Amino acid sequence: MKETRRRILIVGGVAGGASCAARARRLCERCEIVVFDRGPYVSFANCGLPYYVGDVITEEQKLLVATPQLFKERFNIQVCVETEVLRIDRAAQNIEVRNIRTGEIRTESYDALVLSPGARAIRPPLPGIDLPGIHVIRTIPDSRRIKKAVEKAESAVVVGGGFIGLEMAENLARKGLTVSIVEMAPQVMPPLDPEMASPLAAHLRENKIKLYLGESVAGFAKTDGGLTVMTSDDRKLETDLVILAIGVHPETQLATEAGLEIGKRGGIQVDGFMRTSDPHIWAVGDVVRVKDFICGEEKLIPLAGPANRQGRIAADDIIASRKTTAASPRFRGVQGTAVCDIFGLTMATTGLSEKTLRLMAHANFEKVYLHPGNHAAYFPGARPIHMKVIFDTVKGRLLGAQAVGEEGVARRIDVIAMAMQMHATVFDLEEAELCYAPQFGAAKDPVNLAGMVASNHLRGDLPLADWDKLSNTDALILDVRSNAEFEQGHLDEAKNIPLEQLRSRLTELPPKREIWLMCGVGQRAYYATRLLLQNDFQVKNLSGGWQTFCALEAAKTT
Ligand code: FAD
Repeated sequence: MKETRRRILIVGGVAGGASCAARARRLCERCEIVVFDRGPYVSFANCGLPYYVGDVITEEQKLLVATPQLFKERFNIQVCVETEVLRIDRAAQNIEVRNIRTGEIRTESYDALVLSPGARAIRPPLPGIDLPGIHVIRTIPDSRRIKKAVEKAESAVVVGGGFIGLEMAENLARKGLTVSIVEMAPQVMPPLDPEMASPLAAHLRENKIKLYLGESVAGFAKTDGGLTVMTSDDRKLETDLVILAIGVHPETQLATEAGLEIGKRGGIQVDGFMRTSDPHIWAVGDVVRVKDFICGEEKLIPLAGPANRQGRIAADDIIASRKTTAASPRFRGVQGTAVCDIFGLTMATTGLSEKTLRLMAHANFEKVYLHPGNHAAYFPGARPIHMKVIFDTVKGRLLGAQAVGEEGVARRIDVIAMAMQMHATVFDLEEAELCYAPQFGAAKDPVNLAGMVASNHLRGDLPLADWDKLSNTDALILDVRSNAEFEQGHLDEAKNIPLEQLRSRLTELPPKREIWLMCGVGQRAYYATRLLLQNDFQVKNLSGGWQTFCALEAAKTT
């Protein structure tokens, strides 16, 4: 490293900042590295906070991945907690910091400055927003306050049905509270498509969580014993405490005041090496605007994985010697790969959702639904995974995937996420060689099956019908499930010929009219599609069958 960059100052000592500091030390033993955090802790597990509230994590100490002492002893990194960075003087290359305990203000000079101040929880300017009993969760002290409030509470309203809102709802319920969720979107877990989120909504209700979807909070009022939450539907929810989990704003104040370039939707503008518009300043984590890996759009996607990777990349870039190597890392963009488990139901996603693609007016994409078991059906305990895989119809490039189920969900989405990062196509999923023993998977893993179904479509072997056009198609809907399954529930207009009888009943089918095939999950309809195509019928397949239809219908009513 050049002498002119010997002093590295880092603002924020959690995911991005701590990662950057430790990496910088591993690369440069001679640098002076100082981390400032206004909170009392660094390197704590914010992702574990909901579980600390719910007593799944029982000791607060376990949330501390590293302490200032460990940073000092192991890495020779100085950590200043309860020290807020107030101002950046870019011309003088120094920052003004304030010791929160003593009020002392001092100046610290830098050769390289890294900003990792994260994001702050959104508190919208609603009537009553500052009333006691309305909490956000970002820090250990926040979770401590919530834990204390929970001791005296019987009920809670969680505002926001995304990842953090749902994790909080689960943990508050675990503590015995009656929990309601108010979510402005018409579904929980907005990153998922509605039909993929609908099993989760049902599961939340089964676990006694009340859902108010498509409703926003209009304000809060104090009552004798607690709070009233008013919603846009004139509902009044009486509660003991409120958790606000409606998203975050990047902490850009320092950067803005210093005149660093800020992106259109907020978030510090950085390049692939996490450099800001100032050659001596880098920025990482929730505070930066990132490129969507799939579509190239600039976005704010606050996730721990990207923050950690960006911290490492910034350190590599700061340590000049690393820049010259061919293997210098560069941030590739964010896919939004995320996972969440609520009351034993896991949902995971990577890449773009169908609704995002529609908003982008993306013309050439298709999706397949499938519901395979997490492992071989003959081995006891197989549980279904509901999957949706979205791909472009030009080359079959993977655009996104979502999955919901009890077992094996994250593994499948992880495989697809990595495939997407390698610009893989559905044809690559078809050929992926994955672990198989009966208790772990199947000889055709759900990932292979997703690739096979999508590839079959692109090769013309499995034309797909559009579920959205079901209500106004002239096609004959042919259900090839057994009579008994059909009787349990079917589309009003459907004709039932069980697959096993199809060859002998071809004369009952119209030779000129399009036929849309469906079954329970899509497999028998696929066999029927092949059979009928080879008998010169015009057929299409309703991907995912009855199970997908039920999920689509449920999404309309949640
Ligand atoms: P942070 O980790 O938030 O760190 C920023 C630090 O900077 C803070 O400690 C703050 O005090 C300090 N700071 C800010 N301004 C100043 C200043 N002026 N001076 C000094 N210090 C300052 N992501 C996942 O991928 N998976 C999950 O399961 C997950 N769960 C989460 C659960 C919760 C409850 C929360 C809150 C977040 C969760 N996240 C999760 C998101 C993830 O934690 C963040 O994306 C990640 O921590 C961002 O890292 P960061 O370094 O940008 O900011």
